[in-house]
Amino acid sequence: MLELENFIDHDYINKLLKDAKNAGDDVIINALDKAQRGESLLHNEVAALLLTENSLHISRIFETAGNIKKRIYGSRIVMFAPLYLSDYCVNRCAYCSFNHNHEFPRSKLTMDEVREEVKILEMMGHKRLAIEAGEHDGECPIDYILECIKTIYEMKFENGEIRRVNVNIAATTTENYRKLKDARIGTYILFQETYNEAAYNSAHLSGPKKDYLWHLNAFDRAQDAGIDDVGGGVLFGLADPYYDVLGLLIHNEHLEKKYNTGFHTISVPRLRPAAGMNINDFPNLVDDDTFAKIVACLRIAVPFTGMILSTREAHEMRKKLLQLGISQISAGSTTEVGGYFKKKRNEKTTPQFLVNDDRSAISIISELIDDGFIPSFCTACYRGGRTGDRFMSLAKSGKIGNVCTPNALMTLCEYAMDYGDDTFKEKAMSIIKKEIPQIADGQIKKKTEENIEMIRTGKGRDFYV
Ligand code: SAM
Repeated sequence: MLELENFIDHDYINKLLKDAKNAGDDVIINALDKAQRGESLLHNEVAALLLTENSLHISRIFETAGNIKKRIYGSRIVMFAPLYLSDYCVNRCAYCSFNHNHEFPRSKLTMDEVREEVKILEMMGHKRLAIEAGEHDGECPIDYILECIKTIYEMKFENGEIRRVNVNIAATTTENYRKLKDARIGTYILFQETYNEAAYNSAHLSGPKKDYLWHLNAFDRAQDAGIDDVGGGVLFGLADPYYDVLGLLIHNEHLEKKYNTGFHTISVPRLRPAAGMNINDFPNLVDDDTFAKIVACLRIAVPFTGMILSTREAHEMRKKLLQLGISQISAGSTTEVGGYFKKKRNEKTTPQFLVNDDRSAISIISELIDDGFIPSFCTACYRGGRTGDRFMSLAKSGKIGNVCTPNALMTLCEYAMDYGDDTFKEKAMSIIKKEIPQIADGQIKKKTEENIEMIRTGKGRDFYV
């Protein structure tokens, strides 16, 4: 059994934050020059970027983050949707409507309901899901989660299938992580909520999640069980956000040192109103400008880690953050158990929190194209076994565009043919034609062109490199 380890040094982070208040312009300018050259930054440099309030520095932070984003991710934006399986929960988390003390009619999906939800998600064009559940060993044991994953992977549609199931369930045992690994999950996602132990303790009032160290060491157990694809995050609004950004970086380095692979993704959820809590009770809410600066600083600090933004954020904010570092977004989401079929039937629901971007998936995808992005439904790395350090070494080689761009273009073409009307198809094809010449490897470029033509004319599909 793994010994629980506290790799978050509270005094060290506080000292970084204190010293950063007095950081000179030279530290910030030098840090941004280093980032622009593709060099990694030291903790004190990231802290100085986070704390600066100088508008000239902040504009340069945005510009640098935008450049890094373009250099590493090109125009690709990966699409996904959450699927809530169960809202039974034994924890009392002050911010969450699934809070054990909050009374509402709880439920979990039957396998038929899982199929009904997945069918709706498939009709929106999704190929990648993140399953979500509260923590309840009685109502929602690991076997139930495994059965849901199996049910999802077994479903086949005319337009394909869900090709990757990411999992966002409570911290669990090494043995359970092994079962999730065997069930062929994509990324195991878990938010630390906050790295500040005192703030963590006041937000988590009772239940297994109250154990800070058990939660903090979850990815160590997952890695020990063979899950080399993990995604971190904090819930911005619970504590000093700058403390939490440094906590994320230190956690990432801990995993890199110990397992040779850090976070595959970092999510940046921000606290939202929810039933059973009052958002005004949280003194550390993060305003829009600070949030944008945080996203940009994260992009600069961990250039190769995907960054996920959910529909917690409003349309305009999502648009802005896509320019500053976000590489993956959800679309068409609901945050309640049975939310997709209930929405269709106009039934009342209890969401985990209120979403802020309730546009349909296709209108979000369509706008991404208008803004020059390539919405990608690619799941190739996972399917081709390119996870963990194999993914990271590809990302760091600078050749990722040779793989991700063709896959993004081929999956977008598939999406357009399966779900788009004539205007959408035309729009998608025009961005595809514009992007193909950017593929550096001549052979891959030619193959991509041929595959796109096959997909467009209905002679083939599901290609990836
Ligand atoms: N039960 C699992 C766990 O404990 O990690 C899965 C968590 S839940 C389904 C996904 C995430 O939603 C939580 O980790 C939390 O960060 C976030 N969340 C909960 N309440 C929220 C709120 N009011 N606003 C925004 N995000 C919230």
